[in-house]
Amino acid sequence: MRDRRPVGTAAAPAAAAHEAGPGRPDLAAAGIAELRALGERVTPARRAVLRVLAGTSEHLSVDDVLARADEIVPGLHRTTVYRAVETLGELGLVTHVHPDHGPAVYHLASSLTGSGHLHVRCRRCGEISDVPADLLDGVADRLARQLGFRLQPDHAALTGLCRTCAAAADPPGHPR
Ligand SMILES: [Zn+2]
Ligand SMILES: [Zn+2]
Ligand SMILES: [Zn+2]
Repeated sequence: MRDRRPVGTAAAPAAAAHEAGPGRPDLAAAGIAELRALGERVTPARRAVLRVLAGTSEHLSVDDVLARADEIVPGLHRTTVYRAVETLGELGLVTHVHPDHGPAVYHLASSLTGSGHLHVRCRRCGEISDVPADLLDGVADRLARQLGFRLQPDHAALTGLCRTCAAAADPPGHPR
């Protein structure tokens, strides 16, 4: 689903969007324009979800999205927001990634941000970090050649220890 680009998608705006400052209203506007281009309704809930996701580079669970959407449009029903997230996902404007623990987290899709990425998650502190989209290309190639398996590396986060937690786990004076 991640790779499915909606018909009529305009050229991807704002290549460096992930690094853009807070707000990123351009991305919310791009999402809204895309909804219109797809002939989809721009409901208050859909608009709020796009604004929430455009306003952060954090990795938000659907409950996080809900809490922030409620700040933008108070009184939105939970189910309405859930459905908006789901629909935006089906339309290819929002993607999710599954951490090894906890609920899926959501992003604007790379069709809006202009660049994709993979994720690593620290199993000790829970921090999720973005890593380059091509990180597992070699692995994907090998799996395809040897097993005919098509890897979808962006659908789940890789698990390990972040730098800080790895340093704390290693006794001092015994670097690896
Ligand atoms: Zn950590
Ligand atoms: Zn990310
Ligand atoms: Zn999934």
